[in-house]
Parts: sequence; C-alpha cells; structure tokens
Amino acid sequence: MNPTRPQHAPMIQFAVDNGSLVVGGVPLPRLAERIGATPFYAYDRSKLTARVGELRRHLPPEIHLHYAMKANPMPAVVQHMAGLVDGLDIASGGEMQVALDTPFAPGEISFAGPGKSDTDLTTAIAAGVVLNMESAFEMERIAVFGRRLGIVPKVAIRVNPDFELKSSGMKMGGGPKQFGVDAEMVPEMLARLAELGLAFQGFHIYSGSQNLKAESLQDAHEKTFALAIRLAAHARTPVLSLNIGGGFGIPYFPGEGRLDLEAVGANLKRLVPDVKRALPEAKIVIELGRYLVAEAGVYVCRVIERKVSRGQVFLVTDGGLHHHLAASGNFGQVIRKNYPVAVGNKMNAARRETVSVVGPLCTPLDLLADQMELAAAEPGDLVVVFQSGAYGMTASPAAFLSHPGAREALV
Ligand SMILES: *Cc1c(COP(=O)(O)O)cnc(C)c1O
Repeated sequence: MNPTRPQHAPMIQFAVDNGSLVVGGVPLPRLAERIGATPFYAYDRSKLTARVGELRRHLPPEIHLHYAMKANPMPAVVQHMAGLVDGLDIASGGEMQVALDTPFAPGEISFAGPGKSDTDLTTAIAAGVVLNMESAFEMERIAVFGRRLGIVPKVAIRVNPDFELKSSGMKMGGGPKQFGVDAEMVPEMLARLAELGLAFQGFHIYSGSQNLKAESLQDAHEKTFALAIRLAAHARTPVLSLNIGGGFGIPYFPGEGRLDLEAVGANLKRLVPDVKRALPEAKIVIELGRYLVAEAGVYVCRVIERKVSRGQVFLVTDGGLHHHLAASGNFGQVIRKNYPVAVGNKMNAARRETVSVVGPLCTPLDLLADQMELAAAEPGDLVVVFQSGAYGMTASPAAFLSHPGAREALV
C-alpha cells in the first residue's frame, strides 16, 4: 500500500470475526446462505439505531429529526427508522404509501418534489400529509383540490434560498432551480396562501446534499435561519414548522474524512435560542437521508471468475452497476473514484493483489472497483461494497441487460 496516496476512511463500523465481516451480527458467508442468493444489500439495524443516537447526542434537544425516505425506501428500513425519528420526508406518491403504513401521524410526514401529479396532491390532501409546495402554480392546484375534497390542505413553502451551500456534493438551492420558490417571490405567495385559506405550516429550506465540511453546514444553518425569520415577517399566521434540510455527508472516496458532527451540533445550539425567540411556535426540523442509513449498509456480490488480461487482474462478479450505479461511478460523479471495497470473507488475508472488480454487464461502465488493492480472491469469494445503505438499489437501473435483481435484508 502506498502511504502517500489518499486512503479511504477506515470502515470500522462492522466487526470482523474469523476473517469475515459481521453484518447484523451474522458473519458474511453465513448471511449469504441465510439470504439464499447473491448479490444482496444488507442493512444492519443496530447501526441505524446507533446513528440516530449519535445525532441525538450532538444536536440540540429542540431539533426534530426526520428521515428522508428516498435514501432507502425499503419498507422494513422505513419501519425501523419510524421507531427512531420524529417524522418522514417523502418525494413521491409511492413513498407516501410506505410512509402512511408507519405509526406516524400524517402531519409528521411531508411531501416535497417538483411535478407532483394530481393524484399525488389529492392523496396527500386526503391523507393529511404536509405538502411542501414547489411553486405558486402548485399552490393553486392544491387549493382547487382542497375545495373539491372539502379538506383544508396543510402546506409549507419550499424556499429556493438566495445563497448556495458551499462544498456540497449536489446543490439543491441557490440560483435558478426547479426546486422550491425563489426567496424573493415568497412574500407574494404568502399573501395568496392566506387568500386561498390553506393551512400554513411553515418553510422548508433545503440547500444541498453530501456535505463533509462542518463550516459549510454551519454557514448554511445560520443563513437558513436568518432567511426564515425574514420571510416569516410576511406570513399571516405563525410559522409552525421550519425544516432546514440536511445535507450531512459521509466519506465515500479516498481522502474524505468524517463530518465533525460535534461542531455542527454546537453551532445549532448557539443558533436555536434566537430562532425560538423569533419563531416561538416553530418546530425546527432537520431531514436526513444518506447520513442516517448509508454507513449501515453493504452491497455484497460473489466472484464468478478471476480473469487475467494482459497482466491485469479482473474479478468478474455476479453484481454490478445495475444494482449499484453509484459505486460504478455513474450516479452524478464527475471523476470516477472507488467506493471502499473489500473481500468480505478474507478481511485479514495477508496475500493481497491489485484488481479491478467488474460485473456481468456488456459495458465497460460496469466497474465496482478500478485497480484496487484487495485480499487475493478466487471464485466463490464475497466482494463487499461499503457505504451502500443509501442511494443503492433504488437508485440503480435494475432492468438494464435483464439480469436478476439484488435481494435486500434488514438484519
Ligand atoms: C433528497 C432529499 C433529502 C435527503 O438528502 P440526503 O443528502 O440523503 O440527506 C432531504 N430533503 C429533500 C427535500 C430531498 O429531496
């Protein structure tokens, strides 16, 4: 191993027993037998629980924690998370059906996303779910449906802020965006909202995803609160809910470290009292997807063949980009980098070699690890991709090339 090259953050969340990674208390070869087939995703429920506990310890007690379901919408995971967090954020009608099966009151579920269909809106209104409105046009449609159903819809305004979240993997606010209502248009929209008689809940201000820099999040939180207080002055009724988004990142690639949660929490503790004074009825919500579930999950596939081509070793596996697009580097990455990968049944092996891990698809894009140093592997061994609990299976083109899908287990 070259010590000067940037390394992956150590994947210490899972124990190793007798050379095998232990997920959900079960050594990987046994877990593969239990699940009955590779490839699969496995999510460790104790790690999900531990992560929420860690957040609760660092964030001020006034902060409500919501789970953004699109990161991992597996119903078993959502039910488990429902026992830990204070609410759910959904981004489709399909997610809403899973969310409504949890014990949460519909008022603890909020529905964001542009282009909501008529059915999305009517089902959400009928259910009593809070609609995070993405435009003035959407608000007019909601008002029409509410009158038709004889229900007063609960609505919040998703604001496209007048600032950007610095160093974010994916910017979701600032500048022209398909998300949310431009901050400068919000006062006018609040006036119309009052005319329409909708039940105003508050604001949702989400500026980006996958941020590893505490200072950037601190800056965003400060600006988000200031913006919310400024906008609240134009509301006819009190702000009941202030959702400040999420964006907490996890380390995927060599050279990336873990987010300083303590620093983010300390800054929130400093800011929250002023917000509570300015908006005394507002419940302050942080919504997180990736940060809650990503590190608790692994993707596991089996080596079918060890192939040598012109001196380069390829581990050909039964898994690939059709199950895990992000690990292949094709889900929004600009430059392809390796996820943390290991041979999960040979964690302590002394003999190592530099290999590329590929899948069965007929495209060079089907690459899970590019020239990585791993334990020397042979057919039957289990390749593990870490950091796979979020944006894994449901963010992948499962139908591409008509191979079987991956299984999923919450362990
Ligand atoms: C995707 C999304 C999230 C979750 O983002 P993460 O980076 O996974 O934490 C939260 N809120 C909204 C509105 C989203 O669209």
